[in-house]
Amino acid sequence: MRIRVLGSAAGGGFPQWNCGCSNCQGLRSGSVQAVARRQESVAISADGDAWFLLNASPEIREQIENFPALWPRQPRHSPIAGIVLTNGDLDHCLGLLSLRESQPIAIYATSAVRTGFTDGNVLYRTLERFEGQATWRILSLGVSRILGVEDSSLSITAFAVPGKRPIHLEGRGPPTDEDNVGLLIRDRATNRSVAYVPAAATWTATLDRVLAAVDVVFFDGTFWSSAELLTAGVGTKRAEDMAHLPVGGAAGSLFHLGRLIAERRVLVHINNTNPLLREDSPERAEVTAAGIEIAFDGMEIVL
Ligand SMILES: [Zn+2]
Ligand SMILES: [Zn+2]
Repeated sequence: MRIRVLGSAAGGGFPQWNCGCSNCQGLRSGSVQAVARRQESVAISADGDAWFLLNASPEIREQIENFPALWPRQPRHSPIAGIVLTNGDLDHCLGLLSLRESQPIAIYATSAVRTGFTDGNVLYRTLERFEGQATWRILSLGVSRILGVEDSSLSITAFAVPGKRPIHLEGRGPPTDEDNVGLLIRDRATNRSVAYVPAAATWTATLDRVLAAVDVVFFDGTFWSSAELLTAGVGTKRAEDMAHLPVGGAAGSLFHLGRLIAERRVLVHINNTNPLLREDSPERAEVTAAGIEIAFDGMEIVL
């Protein structure tokens, strides 16, 4: 399996267009040691031929152009064999609408995420210009299915992860276990596996069980601390209000990830306020010392 990080930032990216926090301003002025990051998306392939995108960020066009493996190989073609959504947040699915140039696409998502994106969405009609343009392949929690065509060696299983409905759907129906999922992707030819969990509100027994048996874990690295947005002066919500378990602290994800035996443990979906983005921060030194990696755009893992 080849895994390529196309974007490692949380919604808004780094820097974020309307953010003047010390990280964003420092990156613009060159006064902090950090690199820009696009919004979270990862490409994965078993054979280097057919690729699957995990989440479709608003920056999908640049992300495709920056990775030659995703370029067309015929006058009209795309090596992107499917797009998998972990939830309905706009930073994870807005990119779908940018793929409207009459190319058939397969979208893997839970029924709740599909409905949230398509129901009453007049813009979605751009992916329904002809029969078979968008094909949804529904992920049922805990049920493994083939990722791609029948002879694909990849399988995918979605598992429930505490999260929340996207902001634009709040108040429009009750939350369900299908609103936010983690993905377990296995190459059945090599029996190597990766778990992808870019958003998690809390740690659960399911996470312990699923992540204990995988080779590579990507996990929610949105915030270092609960009060990060307040401290940075850019918001009033705490990390928990936004359904993201902070990395730091006694019960943070760093503690839980530290107990896993996976070969690679990588934080992804990093918010622009997060001190982990600064290469010389003490928080980053703490994470690195624990053997945990911070994803960056262009990071590649071969399994
Ligand atoms: Zn997000
Ligand atoms: Zn910022």
